[in-house]
Amino acid sequence: MSSVMPDLVNRLYRLAARPFGLPKASDWLYETAAVPAPQDGELLIKVRYISLDPAMRGWMNEGRSYIKPVAIGEVMRAGTLGVVVASKHAGFAVGDWVTGIQGVQAYAISDGRGLNKVDPAAAPLPTWLNALGMPGMTGYFGLLDVGQPKAGETVVVSAAAGAVGQVVGQVAKIMGCKVVGIAGGDAKCDFVVNELGFDACIDYKRGPIFPGLAKHCPEGIDIYFDNVGGDILDAVMARLRMHARIIVCGAISQYNNTTPIAGPKNYLSLLVNRARMEGIVVFDWADRYPEAITAIAGWMREGRYLSREDIVPGIEQFPDTLLKLFRGENFGKLIIEVV
Ligand code: NAP
Repeated sequence: MSSVMPDLVNRLYRLAARPFGLPKASDWLYETAAVPAPQDGELLIKVRYISLDPAMRGWMNEGRSYIKPVAIGEVMRAGTLGVVVASKHAGFAVGDWVTGIQGVQAYAISDGRGLNKVDPAAAPLPTWLNALGMPGMTGYFGLLDVGQPKAGETVVVSAAAGAVGQVVGQVAKIMGCKVVGIAGGDAKCDFVVNELGFDACIDYKRGPIFPGLAKHCPEGIDIYFDNVGGDILDAVMARLRMHARIIVCGAISQYNNTTPIAGPKNYLSLLVNRARMEGIVVFDWADRYPEAITAIAGWMREGRYLSREDIVPGIEQFPDTLLKLFRGENFGKLIIEVV
């Protein structure tokens, strides 16, 4: 018979309904529950930080994707960082810090699969969900492996002040590229230029971005790291340089559409410029994450790389906090601290 941990109470969010457009309160079910004690081969994690990612919106939809949808009634899938508080698993001891996909909940039982131990002394804890976590891996491998930047090339990245955008721009600068960000608002543009060291930033909320692209990319764009899709993708495609590379990382402007996703209008620019467009899924580089962690942690230690997080306290804030991503209200990697 399985036992429970006395004095511990879990708090969690389940997916209650598949959203139409932006997720609403009734798409979630909040619960409190007893915390099971780990059985042989299991460990219990007290979740400290929950990563909120645009991809979570896609996981709520039915249909084929790179990962199966979250089932109705299932705890909402999310990346997490937590500490082991009880263990009957030979590979994990009480006090170990681990990242994994434990979902939107305060406690989680695990059999150890998919967990990675992290060193809390090597970097501040939230960094393990940002620069040294999934967004870091996405920006690093997407830019370097698929984009193949060369010194002197012009790199444009959208959602530039966000989790992945920060990585792409900073790594591209380290590679000797000229970097132009696209972001919403003065504060974010000021941050990417004056704190992250981008060469320029275009505020897409001020109006059409094409004049800014013409001004800051006079010779055209060699690499576009696309986080947003839609009109911004169209404008960038109209300024590609010969042999340009577009990395399709995400299309957040389209995730809550209630009509079909808008495809690129200017795709013949790929033909004219002998350019290519390639989609990425970060998990494909899982075997090589240590390489990126070593590189980014090294740049952080040298003071050449900055990791900015936007941390919201309280798991009960989850439904509304997730929407910050789609309203552009997060400033840096969006994380919930389970308090
Ligand atoms: P993020 O950039 O930290 O946050 C999302 C940002 O997107 C918002 O802050 C907002 O910034 C911008 N945005 C929201 N709606 C927009 C719109 N309609 N038009 C233009 N910009 C909009 O999020 P992230 O975690 O780094 O993710 C960025 C992208 O990478 C997403 O598309 C995500 O799905 C994708 N991703 C893909 C992979 C993969 O393996 N392929 C892995 C991780 C992330 P502004 O205030 O600047 O508008």
